[in-house]
Amino acid sequence: AQERYAGLRALPATAQCGTTVRLFMNAGLMADLPSIDSSGAEGVGLFRTELQFLTRPRVPRRSELAGLYARVIENARGKPVVFRTLDIGSDKVLPYMKRLDEPNPAMGWRAIRVGLDKKGVLQMQLQALIRASAGRPLNVMFPFIADQDEFAQGRAMLVEQIGREAQMGRPVPAELRVGAMLETPSLAFAPPAFFRQCDFVSIGGNDLKQFFYAADRENERVRRRYDTLSTPFLDLIGMIVDRCGQAGVPLSFCGEDAGRPVEAAVFAALGLRQLSMRPASIGPVKSLIRRIDLAALRVAIDAARAEGATNLRPAVTAFLAASGA
Ligand code: PEP
Ligand code: MG
Repeated sequence: AQERYAGLRALPATAQCGTTVRLFMNAGLMADLPSIDSSGAEGVGLFRTELQFLTRPRVPRRSELAGLYARVIENARGKPVVFRTLDIGSDKVLPYMKRLDEPNPAMGWRAIRVGLDKKGVLQMQLQALIRASAGRPLNVMFPFIADQDEFAQGRAMLVEQIGREAQMGRPVPAELRVGAMLETPSLAFAPPAFFRQCDFVSIGGNDLKQFFYAADRENERVRRRYDTLSTPFLDLIGMIVDRCGQAGVPLSFCGEDAGRPVEAAVFAALGLRQLSMRPASIGPVKSLIRRIDLAALRVAIDAARAEGATNLRPAVTAFLAASGA
């Protein structure tokens, strides 16, 4: 399938109206990196760091992680890589961590919550990221930020670790960008000051949708029950776009929906300018965006909303059919 889109590899995802959407890839292994060239991704928009922790019998060593992260950065060959700090708990349980018997692990002790309560592992990971990026730019995002304070604390930990490295005479990142993953509805309502603190925000749509609809993403009975193109969910996305726009903070979307061409086109029409997806989705998403007029799609979406549509998929499908896309 990648072959089919090979001709688009070097072309931008520029829509008929002239708007360009930047497409990045999601990764989690060194072995994913060659896809950066074959897919035409502008960089890695989400590097999930759980796998190295999940596939070992013990916590990986700092030097081991620093080596791996450095190779990831080198293999991205100048394109940006956004590292997401450890998101364990929920569906990802470490074999060597005492298993907590939590009735609702997805909304339990996970991700940044673990990192802030048991600082050792997160500090070690941040040190590994700092060492890996020494003299080069470093992009870090913290997962599952539910309130402003968690982000401030995570960022303070990172800044503190950079200070320590500098004190020891070690090289520090040439540039630092710190972002928050917006995966809980609460963060969409954080005060403007929160958004202004972030260097970027990335919507983790898988979790955001799960919590917006209170529908477990792992439960077959309910996980496809609510449509991403429902009016309430898209209103939430639109609100996040507007709030980030007002704060002047770059916004991306990195959940699975970003890799679905129709959903991706709708996000772009709502104002998202960066999407991160599995590498194989970049061609199909780019192909659709290049064939349509995003401004016109926005008009069609707004018209359907004004008419009281509870789901925008029919209007979007009709628009795409009429555009011959
Ligand atoms: C998400 O929640 O959309 C996301 C990108 O993170 P993960 O799928 O790893 O939870
Ligand atoms: Mg998530």
